[in-house]
Amino acid sequence: MSDSPAPELIFHRGDQASVKMACMYCGAPATHTHERRVTNPRLDAPSRSGAGGNVSLGDDPISGCIALVLLPLVLYGLWGDLRAGWRHRAACRVAPPLDPPDTLVTTTTCDRHRHYARRFTRAVLTVCAACALLWVGVVLLRHQPGGAPLWLVVGALVGTLAAPLIFVVVYDAVGPVRVSKVTRDSVTMGGVRSAYFDAPG
Ligand SMILES: [Zn+2]
Repeated sequence: MSDSPAPELIFHRGDQASVKMACMYCGAPATHTHERRVTNPRLDAPSRSGAGGNVSLGDDPISGCIALVLLPLVLYGLWGDLRAGWRHRAACRVAPPLDPPDTLVTTTTCDRHRHYARRFTRAVLTVCAACALLWVGVVLLRHQPGGAPLWLVVGALVGTLAAPLIFVVVYDAVGPVRVSKVTRDSVTMGGVRSAYFDAPG
């Protein structure tokens, strides 16, 4: 667990500041940029995210183990992020847009990390599919003499219970770069590795 809070990358509404051309995952010179626009809600008070539950962790295995111990806090932080997302969407629906109505957010990556988010999603889906397959095996084999093998039942149970917890820890520690907080004036990116902030430029 890091002693200092992880630095945050914040984009301000209406500010066309150029981004540093370094990979947000490894800090190497960036070769790809991905731009998206995030709608700014017309909120009177800035929306909060992760209401004090955010746990700043490194992306090494030891931090992963610490995260496992701090799982309730991590879950609480994720829940805060989810709630902030819902509030953001609700605020966008009920109020007219601000001017300018959105913030331009840029993600910079090197060749190696260009499809990191996609690979991460694919890995999660693969684990979900593997759990589903185990349960299909349990259901198909339940009429066999002696029922489904014990290892299959235990594997399906443990996999189903452990997978969401492991996912939360892994997402917090090495998840893809994503929007983590939106206020009426700024968008904060989560998951930007410290190597990006250390990179020259
Ligand atoms: Zn990279």
